Amino acid sequence: MKTLYDTLGVSKTASQDEIKKAYRKLAREHHPDRNPGDTAAEERFKEVQTAYDVLGDEAKRKQYDRFGSQNGRGAGGPGQPNPNFDFDFNIGDLGDLFGGLFNGGAGGGARSQRGRRQPVRGADVETQVRLSFEDSLSGAEAKVPVELTVACHVCAGTGAEPGTAPVICPECNGRGVKSESQGLFALSQPCPRCRGNGTVIEQPCKSCRGSGRERRLKTYTVKIKPGVKDGTRIRLKGKGEAGENGGPAGDLVVRVHVAASNLYERRGDDLIVQTPVSYATAVLGGTVDVPTPEGAVSLKIPSGSEDGKLIRIKGRGAPRITGGGKGDVLARVRIQVPKRVNKKERELLEQLQKVSG
Ligand SMILES: [Zn+2]
Ligand SMILES: [Zn+2]
Repeated sequence: MKTLYDTLGVSKTASQDEIKKAYRKLAREHHPDRNPGDTAAEERFKEVQTAYDVLGDEAKRKQYDRFGSQNGRGAGGPGQPNPNFDFDFNIGDLGDLFGGLFNGGAGGGARSQRGRRQPVRGADVETQVRLSFEDSLSGAEAKVPVELTVACHVCAGTGAEPGTAPVICPECNGRGVKSESQGLFALSQPCPRCRGNGTVIEQPCKSCRGSGRERRLKTYTVKIKPGVKDGTRIRLKGKGEAGENGGPAGDLVVRVHVAASNLYERRGDDLIVQTPVSYATAVLGGTVDVPTPEGAVSLKIPSGSEDGKLIRIKGRGAPRITGGGKGDVLARVRIQVPKRVNKKERELLEQLQKVSG
């Protein structure tokens, strides 16, 4: 038979401090805000809460110890609440304990004493924007459509039909918790009627069916700096989902996709461009035109350039996002081998072949 000590994973001789520590650790682990939709965790959380409610209180613990030893078995196993000792399942402690811990999480909504809700930050929303390679170099203003949950436009978020208002819950008189007397023990739990809100809506808003929220498409204009790289994430503070109970809104995270260029290969802030060079120019040296984002430049090819050589054109690459200035264009020499030659060329090449072997 599992004892309350087992539930908290402590020995029967554990100090109050050890019990408190074990409880805090387990409660944090299994807290519903951290395990949304996980009913096993919720069950476990309740068990832990119940165990601590008894063992965390010296008087109740003594009562439990005495009772346990007399009867030869531990009391309060799963599904077997024991009416011979009283415990007060105090939801109020939860808000105090977790109010500061879980505000960063999405959803949920920890409740403080008297069932009032704590502010919860809204969730972050991620969206994508696609840019051409040229726009990524020059910068752009992108229109980003985002579907967000916002306050219902009909009831302004109250969930009540316009002209009516939420009323104090008659079941719990606005406390948000309900105590139920069952023989010797009083069990308090979130009020089932108002689900801990303390208020109920008698005539729900028809537009949002009482939720007070609706999905709406919003369009944000996002300024994208020149030189943005593929995969960059831009964070817009406070443009995500609205917070709850006065909590701050989440952020909008825009992920930038940059299309590949058919001319340039980006490497950091440098742009590599394939540059066709004739065999004669590669050997003797000369000039060729090389495209850059701001127009072609005439590039000097040194004599004896090998295929694959990179020649740097300073300051003509992608704008640097931080620090200012620009990267370089790197012209990669590609020696061209002609598929066909005319009569004159053939004669010259044959002479060259004879000379150089
Ligand atoms: Zn209520
Ligand atoms: Zn509404």
